[in-house]
Amino acid sequence: MSDCFILLCAGKSKRFKSKLNKQFITYKNKPLFEHSLKTAIESKLFKKILIVSNKKIKKISYKNINVIKGGAERHLSTQNALQYLKNKKIRNVFIHDAARPNLSINLLKRLKKELKKNTAVVPYLKSENSVKYKIKNEINNLSRKKVLLTQTPQCFNFQELFGLYKSNNEKITDEATLYLKNKKKIKFILGEKKNFKITTIDDLNYLKSEIYYGIGFDIHRLVKNKKLFLGGVKIPFHSGLKGHSDGDVVIHAIIDGLLGAVRKCDIGTLFPSNSNKFKNIRSKNMLTPVLNLLRDNNFFINNIDVNLICENPKVSKIRNKIINSLSKLLSINKNLINLKGKTVEKLGIIGKEQAIACEVICSLSR
Ligand code: ZN
Repeated sequence: MSDCFILLCAGKSKRFKSKLNKQFITYKNKPLFEHSLKTAIESKLFKKILIVSNKKIKKISYKNINVIKGGAERHLSTQNALQYLKNKKIRNVFIHDAARPNLSINLLKRLKKELKKNTAVVPYLKSENSVKYKIKNEINNLSRKKVLLTQTPQCFNFQELFGLYKSNNEKITDEATLYLKNKKKIKFILGEKKNFKITTIDDLNYLKSEIYYGIGFDIHRLVKNKKLFLGGVKIPFHSGLKGHSDGDVVIHAIIDGLLGAVRKCDIGTLFPSNSNKFKNIRSKNMLTPVLNLLRDNNFFINNIDVNLICENPKVSKIRNKIINSLSKLLSINKNLINLKGKTVEKLGIIGKEQAIACEVICSLSR
């Protein structure tokens, strides 16, 4: 007698507005359904794994995996699976929705443990929201302590579940419903928040929250009779940075880093140096369109690391001022910005205080 993991992939994804069924959409470099499949395999808890799918699934290079056709509704797919397993000496079945890719081995183990003492084990979450329910036109309050949000995998003694399914001919949305209808006992255990179900494209985007990186570099020549600006701060110094704008290498490198992370070319594309419009512009004002671009595309800054390369001024003396200024200009917390000073052993034009350079790495999330 062994346990079987049943992965339901036959859903039609009516609420998921995409041509491709959500189970097959790419999430973290592979089809969504393969994530929980991999977890089930790696748990080593199952002698048998059964995928229920109406789409042809390429020969999967895992042992003991069978693919069968699903039904038009979820409960019909489960029914097909149970029917298929009828004579396969199965003790327990774990029925899981492929739309929950972040299933953990730990949850599988906890469910398995409870199956030693129970014939039905279902994970659930407590409601964090206040709950109302509607009867005709009347809306009532329901104590959220009384609410159980059920997840999958839902786990059952095979024979018992099969028996209940045989006598059922109603549409049910999960196996727990069938048990409750038949007044059978279910052991509910706390599930995992990250094991949530992807129902809409927004859910998928939320899960993805990818990280992007951008690198920026800039160098400007130091010239007499110009004010020095670094990171938007006016620094008392014998020279200033020559440039079309105020020559603020820190801000220019940050802009390039941010544009790199969102894959929108570079500062020169956004502010062509042959355009008089930007002549003598304060660099801090050049940040505005870049930050708007980030905001409009739902990007936010994780952190920024800056190397300011100069012999003088001493970075340690101006570090806090620059970080405070960048924090304000970028509207991010100070502790997300790091500034390192780097001298060049008096080598080259930077060493001779004829230029200042800056390099930056930016990390963004969406
Ligand atoms: Zn520049």
